[in-house]
Amino acid sequence: MPMLMDAVKEYTRKVTYVTYNVGDYNLECSCRKFEIFDILCMHGMKVLTHNKVLMLPSRYIQRRWSKFSKDGLPYQ
Ligand SMILES: [Zn+2]
Repeated sequence: MPMLMDAVKEYTRKVTYVTYNVGDYNLECSCRKFEIFDILCMHGMKVLTHNKVLMLPSRYIQRRWSKFSKDGLPYQ
């Protein structure tokens, strides 16, 4: 479990910056939740909301959350 604890420890550290690229909707947050857990953090969500982005960019939606999650499985 040391790897998970390191990830949790890193996530809970203080957020120092959030960068947002308006052109390609790319977010980068110093908490690194997306890089560690593949889940967009609340800081990134707040930046999107502040910039009036009404639809979450597809790169932040995991395939397993979509209706296409079972596509490609051998038995459906
Ligand atoms: Zn964050």
